[in-house]
Amino acid sequence: MHIFYGKAPLTAYLKSIKTTNSSIGFVPTMGALHQGHLALMKKSLLENDFTVVSIFVNPTQFNNPEDLAKYPRTLDADVEKMTALNPEIILYAPTVDDIYEGETVSKSFDFDGLENQMEGKFRPGHFNGVGTIVKRLFEIVEPTNAYFGEKDFQQLQIVKKMVSKTNLKVNVIGCPIFREANNLAMSSRNERLSTEEREKAAIIFQTLTVAKEKFKTKSAKWVTEWVQKSFENNPLFDLEYFVIADEATLLPCSTKNKNKKYRAFIAIFVNNIRLIDTISLN
Ligand code: AMP
Repeated sequence: MHIFYGKAPLTAYLKSIKTTNSSIGFVPTMGALHQGHLALMKKSLLENDFTVVSIFVNPTQFNNPEDLAKYPRTLDADVEKMTALNPEIILYAPTVDDIYEGETVSKSFDFDGLENQMEGKFRPGHFNGVGTIVKRLFEIVEPTNAYFGEKDFQQLQIVKKMVSKTNLKVNVIGCPIFREANNLAMSSRNERLSTEEREKAAIIFQTLTVAKEKFKTKSAKWVTEWVQKSFENNPLFDLEYFVIADEATLLPCSTKNKNKKYRAFIAIFVNNIRLIDTISLN
């Protein structure tokens, strides 16, 4: 594995291997790698001459200091997983200072309102942090293609918007959600769940699946209330939001329009551990 902890040696190395026609695939992550991350890497390896993966727990996208402190950091195990997948992967695991150069603050972005819904509403400042780090990483790595999971669908739309509003030349590619055997969306945060919590968290995707079925005949309001009620008496879960939104604008669906694509989004706490998931509805 080629591992770089600083942007200067990384960019020098990339310059030395790149020719005018070579493509660079890029997979930004916060580490604690699981099969979902590895699926993104596999796609990048297939579609590009070189694949760069970043592992960086970005402090400015955490609105909750406890969540940042408890975020799993497992660099050695991550390196092992990537080496087993393909030892040619180029890893960039920078320090906070290498990225922020002494000023760990985010820039302010306008994503045409995408940032004001769901994750943006409940995690103030989150998408300014995401915009700041993704833009910085794109400037350093200069990828041809960048791979993002649909699990963070709002983030994917925001990164696409950022690229369309700047002159960054990168194709942003969305990848399907990788799930555990019980259909719980894979997440680094799942590591913090007990075995029982992890099993019971299967209800999140089960609920989304039933919501999808119900949305065929019922309104968004009806389905939303049904989901809220179904978690109301469940002591293990604390529903933060369930929203049915237009995929393009992320605005909540009030009246159904058959020409629009809708998606359900959920954020839910299981014993203080925040999990998100999403499903396409039509
Ligand atoms: P993270 O390390 O959680 O910031 O995620 C890094 C990238 O992996 C993001 O683009 C995520 O959307 C993506 N990702 C995380 N979990 C999954 C999953 N279960 N399936 C597919 N992609 C995922």
